[in-house]
Amino acid sequence: MIILVFVFLIFLCWGSFLNVVAYRSISDVPFLKKRSFCPSCEHFIEWFYNIPVFSWFFLKGRCQYCGARISILYPLIEILTAVIMTGLFVKIFMLHGFYFFNLKTIFSFFSYFIFFSALLVATRTDFQALVIPQIFSLWLVPFGMIFAYLGFLKINFMQSFIGAIFGYAILWIVAVVFKYITKKEGMGVGDMELLSLIGAFLGPFCVWVTIFIASVSGLLFATSCILITKKKGMIKIPLGPFLSLGAVIYFFFDKWCIWFLFK
Ligand SMILES: [Zn+2]
Repeated sequence: MIILVFVFLIFLCWGSFLNVVAYRSISDVPFLKKRSFCPSCEHFIEWFYNIPVFSWFFLKGRCQYCGARISILYPLIEILTAVIMTGLFVKIFMLHGFYFFNLKTIFSFFSYFIFFSALLVATRTDFQALVIPQIFSLWLVPFGMIFAYLGFLKINFMQSFIGAIFGYAILWIVAVVFKYITKKEGMGVGDMELLSLIGAFLGPFCVWVTIFIASVSGLLFATSCILITKKKGMIKIPLGPFLSLGAVIYFFFDKWCIWFLFK
């Protein structure tokens, strides 16, 4: 149990790092600028105000120097990262009997670790700016195929290959049909590339499940947004976070997903 607490805290810090990666990849801050700073007043943040999750609540979501709001996405991404990665750790290392450590399980863990990190960064950038940088989607697709080929994933190379193409193609078709009917651009290329990544790591079957979960959860989110803000007309809802949600649910509960959709 103590190891899980330790692992959870490490992944909180990793989530903090992913926040920085996401933020810097969609702003023009030099990527390797060393210390964290407030985007509003550019004051450097002391290390004791830079502790994952706790600092945000301690500072009540505001910069201590200029009082600018700090996005709730920071603690949210940190907590999500810690929960998902700890879940991954348990699933890979502990469910095969206790502490099933060998080289292949370690590689398997890191393959999914990279995949989920990319989904978390995409979630943040898509929420914040409706953008998913290709480094966190399309560029990782070949890695999914390689990992599948090497036997680090639950799917084989063919499933990974078909999953990647299927993931891209199905959203492309939806986008074309949507544009034909409404004469409006409804879906970004970023969403297609993200679903292609999901297909490459989890297979074509997961693409179906992900689309199902993303449409239902995205629709619920859009409806509650409209009800809360009382705004009418077109609102822009990012699809990336809901696709990521679908992939995460499928990864952890694949048997239930299959049962739910096909029985
Ligand atoms: Zn500030």
